[in-house]
Amino acid sequence: METLVAMLARSGLGLFSAVTSPRLSILIFHRVHARADSIFPQEPDAVRYERLMRFVARCFRVMTLGEAVTCLAEGMLPSRSLVITFDDGYADNAEVALPILQRYGLTASFFISTGFLNGGRMWNDSVIECLRACQQSEVDLESFGLGRFSLAGTAERRLAIETLLPRIKYLGLAEREEAIVRLQGVCGVKELPMNLMMRTEQVRQLHQAGMEIGAHTVNHPILATLKPSDAEYEITEGRNQLQSIIDAPVDVFAYPNGKPGRDYYKSHASMIESLGFRGAVSTAPGVGRAGDDVFQLPRFTPWGDSLAIWASRLLVNQRNTVFETAAPGR
Ligand SMILES: [Zn+2]
Repeated sequence: METLVAMLARSGLGLFSAVTSPRLSILIFHRVHARADSIFPQEPDAVRYERLMRFVARCFRVMTLGEAVTCLAEGMLPSRSLVITFDDGYADNAEVALPILQRYGLTASFFISTGFLNGGRMWNDSVIECLRACQQSEVDLESFGLGRFSLAGTAERRLAIETLLPRIKYLGLAEREEAIVRLQGVCGVKELPMNLMMRTEQVRQLHQAGMEIGAHTVNHPILATLKPSDAEYEITEGRNQLQSIIDAPVDVFAYPNGKPGRDYYKSHASMIESLGFRGAVSTAPGVGRAGDDVFQLPRFTPWGDSLAIWASRLLVNQRNTVFETAAPGR
């Protein structure tokens, strides 16, 4: 099955690159669980991730973001170019994903928020882990303006989590922290895991393994909600901390959350450029092409349980972009 998928993808991509300029697909990952997550089974686990990487290694020319930016700038992007990125700095990136990447000779770019290294936790994981650990059969989220939620099974827990996350996402950092403390009280959960994110030695391990380390701020704020001086501090301090950990320059960046015009503005892209970064990625879907703004490159990750569906979505993303450009002004 996989050989057939690979064959179709290669011929599809070959045909595609014969009639268009080369396109750059940039995949975005967060976690790669050692085993499938019970509440979010659609998130990649080691078995599924290995299947995707085997396919990617066969069908694409995989490079780091820095290499891709150089190729774009020089108009030398090879056909079937692809960048694998990871955001946030989860420990499973080093523990689970790195050995798989190495098995297939792949390099990837890891965008790490330094404020959570060594025992920290991102607010969204605090929500998830709080509702995962809650021993009650239902939870009262009235104080978040949401009412009562059943926690009878994993689907119910997922619904409570997915309803609550958007309520907290755009709060300021202090308000987010207050919301998590309130949620812990409501759920009766005192302890939350402290091993979700990387330790500094794992960042170093990734760098020494030839992976690219990129900046992703210190505290993962929505840059659009910050004063420019605070945004600049988050960006430069995150980069400085990473540079001192790996003792090498860090010159690529990923915008937290990453939606252009909502999570960050053009002024932030200009700031990234003026701070000496070489390139940056958003979470807008699409593919990169020669002439694109390398400080706002789009990313797209297909979803789907089967490799065939995943691979076809990857191709459709590239093709849709061609249709868009083929019909300017519509
Ligand atoms: Zn992030």
